[in-house]
Amino acid sequence: MKNIQPLNIKQIAQQRIAILFEQANLIGKTNPALATKYIKTAQKIAMAARLPINQKYKRHICKHCKTLLITGHNNRVRIQQKREPHIVATCLNCGYTSRIPIKNNKKENTKNEQTTNIPHETPR
Ligand SMILES: [Zn+2]
Repeated sequence: MKNIQPLNIKQIAQQRIAILFEQANLIGKTNPALATKYIKTAQKIAMAARLPINQKYKRHICKHCKTLLITGHNNRVRIQQKREPHIVATCLNCGYTSRIPIKNNKKENTKNEQTTNIPHETPR
């Protein structure tokens, strides 16, 4: 009996997922129903192989109706500056909105400078 190495399964699964997403992207505009079918298949493969779906693919799938999101076709992307700046992506198929925060690293650098120059007061 042959032992199949888990690494091989994951590699094969990753290849299959990449192919399915590639094909879904090609037919996304002309045949959205088939593209959705490809995405669902890719998600099933990922679940079976216990692989997380790549972030770059994840952002192109509607979490609600699993439609392939194509910016400018069935996906509306807006930048919101209110509170924390974030990107709002709306699926035009079902109306589901997802928010992606934009990370801001500038705030953390200024904090450390304030604590260093405190004058020493000797009690008398
Ligand atoms: Zn949707």
